[in-house]
Amino acid sequence: MLDADFFRRWMTVTAASVDREAERLTALDSPIGDADHGSNLQRGFTAVTAALEKETPDTPGGVLTLAGRQLISTVGGASGPLYGTLLRRTGKALGDAAEVSADQLAQALRAGVDAVMTLGGATPGDATMIDALVPAVDALGTSFSAARTAAEEGAVATTPMQARKGRASYVGERSIGHQDPGATSSALLVAALAEAAG
Ligand code: ADP
Ligand code: MG
Ligand code: MG
Repeated sequence: MLDADFFRRWMTVTAASVDREAERLTALDSPIGDADHGSNLQRGFTAVTAALEKETPDTPGGVLTLAGRQLISTVGGASGPLYGTLLRRTGKALGDAAEVSADQLAQALRAGVDAVMTLGGATPGDATMIDALVPAVDALGTSFSAARTAAEEGAVATTPMQARKGRASYVGERSIGHQDPGATSSALLVAALAEAAG
């Protein structure tokens, strides 16, 4: 079973990974966007870890809804509301249980990813974070490490796609040949889940 400490670990491992990879995320956002994806997420996840230290929510749902609220309120870019919705909706789906199973987490994350698709209007193949998140959620029924691999492969698979949503869609066919920054950071988020699970 997964408790609040597990979810706190997921968020702190994500924050550390975003710090490490911020330059790469921003570099990916530079030819097809506005070169801020790394700094956007760094600001957001720094706020998440600070809030989790201050408020210490004691349920999985409480950790994720607090994290989601922080991302929405501190990240100016498109990715803030989208990641914020992902975590908040996932947290809401987990309710107020003190511990949840891996299956419950997989189901809740599916609801979170669906909410991101509703909010942003992207579907698989549009070269967004959705291309990493959907395969990850599909693989989560197998294992955390299968989800991690699926997310990494999903991020790489955005390279030959033309972006259909977000800023990258503004450059039209020029987005072809560039890996999507948000799909790349989603792979970090899923990898952090596998790492938190140990
Ligand atoms: P901004 O584009 O506002 O500068 P970021 O650079 O932080 O925001 O995030 C860009 C990422 O957000 C993209 O790489 C993409 O994965 C994701 N994204 C943007 N718009 C959408 C959308 N409508 N649906 C899903 N993901 C999106
Ligand atoms: Mg950007
Ligand atoms: Mg921006």
